[in-house]
Amino acid sequence: MKSARITGPNEPLAVIDSETPKPQGTQVLVKVQSVGVCHSDLHLWEGGYDMGDGQFMKVTDRGVKYPVTPGHEIVGTVDAVGNDVSDVSIGDKVLVFPWIGCGECPACKIQNENLCDAPRSIGVFQDGGYSDYSLIPDSKYLAKLDGVDPDAATSLACSGLTAYTAIKKANHNSPEFLVIIGAGGLGLMGVQIAHAISTAKIVCVDLDDAKLETAKEMGADFVVNSKDSDAVQKILSICNDKGADSVVDFVNAPPTVKTGLAVLRKRGNLILVGLFGGSLELSLVTIPLKSITIQGAYTGNYDDMVELLDLARKGTINPVISKRYTLGEANTALDDLKERKIIGRAVINP
Ligand code: NAD
Ligand code: ZN
Repeated sequence: MKSARITGPNEPLAVIDSETPKPQGTQVLVKVQSVGVCHSDLHLWEGGYDMGDGQFMKVTDRGVKYPVTPGHEIVGTVDAVGNDVSDVSIGDKVLVFPWIGCGECPACKIQNENLCDAPRSIGVFQDGGYSDYSLIPDSKYLAKLDGVDPDAATSLACSGLTAYTAIKKANHNSPEFLVIIGAGGLGLMGVQIAHAISTAKIVCVDLDDAKLETAKEMGADFVVNSKDSDAVQKILSICNDKGADSVVDFVNAPPTVKTGLAVLRKRGNLILVGLFGGSLELSLVTIPLKSITIQGAYTGNYDDMVELLDLARKGTINPVISKRYTLGEANTALDDLKERKIIGRAVINP
C-alpha cells in the first residue's frame, strides 16, 4: 500500500510503499476512498502546539511517534475482515470513528472514548488515512454510510463531530445569541449544526470575507470580520447590547478568546475548541461576578457520529467540500490549508 507519511516535524510528507496488512481477529482493512484534511494534521506536521510565552507542547511528549501517517477523517470500503468480524461485510461503505481509547478508563467506560486517559486515536497515535488502505482495530469503530456522499461524510468524523459536541454544550445555555468564531472546516460545520439544532441567532466571526459569505449561506444570521477595529462593538450591538449567551471559539488563540470574553454576557458560556493556542491573562473577578463558564470541547463519541450521519442523510447538514487532492499532493493540501486557501474542507482521494 501507499501512504503519505510525516517523517518528522516540518519535513515534507513522503509517499512510502509498504506491505498491505492482513486483518486479524476484530480488525478490518478499509480501502480508503476519501480522507479529510484537518487543521489538526497541520499541528501534527508542525510538531505541536503553541503554549504561549515561547513555550511549545510537542506532540511527541503526548505520545505521538514519527513517522506517522496522518488522516483521521476516513471513508472507504471494507476490503477484508478478521475472523471475529460479523457486523460488516466486504464492500460495505463506511465512515471510521477515529477517537479510539483504552477501553478501561472512566471515560471509555461510559463510551466517551474521545476523552480517554490513554488515547490511541487513528491518524494521531496510530497510522491514519493518508493512505490507500487503513487497518482499523475493531469493526465497532465503523459506521455504514447508507447513501451519504463519501467525500462529505469524511468531515463527520472530526470537524462535524467536534462542532456537534461544542454546539450541544452551547445549547445547554439556551442561547438567544450564539457567536461562532472561525469559519473554517470546523466553524462552517458549527454554523450548519447550530442552524439545525439551536433556536439561537447565529453570529459568525472570521477574518476572511469569503468564508463569512459561505457562513451566511450555511445559516449565519449575522457575520462580523474580526479585522474591523470595532468588531467587539458590532457583535455587542447585534446582541442587543447585552452580549452573547454562548460563544464557541473554533480558533482559540489570544485575540479570539479576548473577543469571546468581551462579548459574553452575564451567565454566558464560552466553549474553547481550536488548538491555535497561546496564553492569556484573565480578569479573575469578572468570572464570578458575571457567573460565566469557560469550558473545553474535544471531538465527540461514536453515538454522536452516528447521529450526525443521520442528519447528513436527511440533508439537514451538507458538509462543504471545496477541494480534492491525490495522495501525491498531500503536501500541497496541507500548505493550502495553512495559507487559508480552503473553504470548508479539502479531501484527499488516494
Ligand atoms: P481551518 O484552518 O479550516 O479554519 C480556521 C479558521 O479560523 C479559518 O477560517 C481562519 O480564517 C480563521 N481564523 C484564524 N485566525 C483567526 C482570528 N484571529 N480571528 C478570526 N478567525 C480566525 O481549521 P479547522 O480544521 O476548522 O480547525 C480549527 C482548529 O480546531 C485547529 O486548531 C484544529 O486543530 C482544532 N481542532 C480541534 C478539535 C477539538 O476536538 N477540540 C478537533 C479538530 C480540530
Ligand atoms: Zn480533525
